[in-house]
Amino acid sequence: MHWPADYHMHTPLCRHAVGEPVEYAAQAVKLGLTEIGFTDHSPMRRDDFDNWRMRSDQLDEYVAKVRRAQKEFPALTIKLGLEVDYLPGHEPWIRELAARHPWDYFIGSVHYISDSWDVDNPEKLSHWKDRDPFEVWSVYFERLAMAASSRLFEIIGHADLPKKFGFIPQRDCTSMFQQFLDAAKASDVALELNTAGLRKDCKEIYPSPAILQLAHRTGVPITFGSDAHAPGEVGMDLLRAIELARRTGYSQTCRFTQRQRRLVTL
Ligand code: ZN
Ligand code: FE
Ligand code: FE
Ligand code: ZN
Repeated sequence: MHWPADYHMHTPLCRHAVGEPVEYAAQAVKLGLTEIGFTDHSPMRRDDFDNWRMRSDQLDEYVAKVRRAQKEFPALTIKLGLEVDYLPGHEPWIRELAARHPWDYFIGSVHYISDSWDVDNPEKLSHWKDRDPFEVWSVYFERLAMAASSRLFEIIGHADLPKKFGFIPQRDCTSMFQQFLDAAKASDVALELNTAGLRKDCKEIYPSPAILQLAHRTGVPITFGSDAHAPGEVGMDLLRAIELARRTGYSQTCRFTQRQRRLVTL
């Protein structure tokens, strides 16, 4: 079995994941993975922004937990990352976070399409009731293109997250997808194949085969992530993701060290 790096996993600091980084690392070793990366949800400038991330003063503790895992599992390559929320206007804060530690990579994720609506939050399902999915997806992909253009991130996470609960536009979305992918290509940003979608209502990897096809045609490279929120989810469905990538025409994936990209054979 030849695994890609699992570049998306969380820690209990975000308040909705279980298991310490050493336990995720132990599971990775057990499965035969050779490289993983931690990407817990980034703190916001305001700790009361929402309730599903670490506080700003916990960032050092997060890094220490990852360092401990690196020390305990020297044969496993463990990268230090963050899943950073992109919202327009937050760029200075994201630069401050970047300066605080020698990160290997940042995953830029859009969860919020306004300051008050994180589209993947099950507690806000009612927001979808009087909204046209096409309109929601349009705002989402506009923000995703901004995130890709910002040069703040190495990877864009779960690119079609708004499909999570099954709210999918009836209209053709190709042009919004392409605008985002052109931005990713122009800024050397990779696209993440995130298998958590398979565990949600949409029952599909993020992003869809259609988006991945466009990404391949546009020349946007890829990474893989289980988005594990528990040790048992490490590496989950990564083999399905590789199959999808190969079928789409990909033969390479990215690895990151100190925010430098290197392409390796899939
Ligand atoms: Zn999470
Ligand atoms: Fe996310
Ligand atoms: Fe995540
Ligand atoms: Zn995530």
